Amino acid sequence: MPADNIAAPAPTSGTGRKTEMPLVRPPAVRGGEHPFVCSSDNNRLIAYEHRVKGAFHAIEPCLRDISALRHDADFVNKAQRLVREQLGFELPEALLDDSWIEGLDIGRLHSWCTFETYRRMSEDFYVKGPLAGGEDAFQAFIEECGFHLIDVTPCADGRLAHVISYVLRLPYGPVRRRSYAGALFDVEDSLEKWVKTELQRHHELTPNAADQPTRYLKVAVYHFSTARPDQEGCAAHGNDTAKAAAAARERLNAFREGVENTYCCGASIDLLLIGLDTDNDSIRVHLPDAEGRMDIEHSISASELFEASLQARGCEPLEWIAEYVRGEQQRGGRSVPADGMVRFVSRLLLGNLSQIDYVRRFHNGMYGDLGHQESFIGTGIGFEEIQLRNLTYFAYLKTVEEGAADLDVGIRIFSGLNVARGLPVPVVIRFDYHGSVPGARERAEERCRRLDRALRERFASLVADCKLHTLLMVRDVVADSAADTIECSALPQRAEMH
Ligand SMILES: [Zn+2]
Repeated sequence: MPADNIAAPAPTSGTGRKTEMPLVRPPAVRGGEHPFVCSSDNNRLIAYEHRVKGAFHAIEPCLRDISALRHDADFVNKAQRLVREQLGFELPEALLDDSWIEGLDIGRLHSWCTFETYRRMSEDFYVKGPLAGGEDAFQAFIEECGFHLIDVTPCADGRLAHVISYVLRLPYGPVRRRSYAGALFDVEDSLEKWVKTELQRHHELTPNAADQPTRYLKVAVYHFSTARPDQEGCAAHGNDTAKAAAAARERLNAFREGVENTYCCGASIDLLLIGLDTDNDSIRVHLPDAEGRMDIEHSISASELFEASLQARGCEPLEWIAEYVRGEQQRGGRSVPADGMVRFVSRLLLGNLSQIDYVRRFHNGMYGDLGHQESFIGTGIGFEEIQLRNLTYFAYLKTVEEGAADLDVGIRIFSGLNVARGLPVPVVIRFDYHGSVPGARERAEERCRRLDRALRERFASLVADCKLHTLLMVRDVVADSAADTIECSALPQRAEMH
């Protein structure tokens, strides 16, 4: 069945997950009033958010309906009809056949439906590109700003998963994203990526030729919650915002030092630190000074910019914002960085103004789900298709050992979200590979299986209670095709999914 048949009710409460106390919201501002906001982008993005998240949110109500039917005659046919209508696909017969003997395994069905919904949204993403566009113009823009590659590390928290396509309004294709708990990226891994990028510039002239005077820009995004600072901040930093910002800056500086010390001849990179308020998606940018130093205490607030630019009609948005950025930097007693950096940051702020408007317009100024409400854990290497908030907890890793801390945080979150209610934790294990390299697919499959085994060992008590299910997938990035399923533990006897 084609992926566009995904059932698409708007996300609602009543998914069975915890509902939060009402909060005092900022004054509602009607969308489309701000001169710098792109309403057509906002309409396109909300349609996508509703379609995908609606499909995940429909799973629990549908399973409740099926559960109520289980003693009916002709149960299997009735259940399949219901699932087809509400979720847009059918359940594997094996999950329904013997339900009159042992009862329905709702946990297994829940994981299978979560995996199938994910598989369909992933396929839709790669086949139809619902969020694609603007890649070439963006690459030309960053090169004008003096950069050849933008590498962003947000916290692995699912409330930051939409940082590229939504919060910053950047095309996901040319921007490298690697999420780590607490935005504490692996410096050695980043050095490796940097070397690879510079080699490509020398040998393949991509993204641009090595003799172009451009630099690699590394961005770290930490986060906080203004409404519930002590509960909904960054779990990896004990909800301490200053600590989260300082730790991310320290990691950025270590990466730059690593590049400068390892590779001489003036090799260096540029850095940028951004804070994200996960309640309303407004960012604050710690703009570096002329020497590249970033101040934790000083930042440029997109919320303030939003208010300040409300009447700025009839002018070029990027120029207006660049002037504002320079003014803010000087008011803070700090030197202004190169024009390219100011221009790039202005582009980020401009994108964020649309996102601030988006949250005001479609989420009443503040998200209803301030805390974790992810649907599954994603682990391995890949997941470019996850561009939505609070859908996936990420743990990027090659082996369980090196990413154990990130995985433990994820399992802890899902113990509260799912296990406490009797539902298993769905984990998608995925490795992307380069199909042009001989044997790459086989190695990616083996890595999936190795990670699956290690995960089952590490969380053996969850496995013993049938509270952990895994879906194993690989994807050829060279062919730019959809990901292939290798195994799904939610199917009896771990049979092939399709
Ligand atoms: Zn975090």
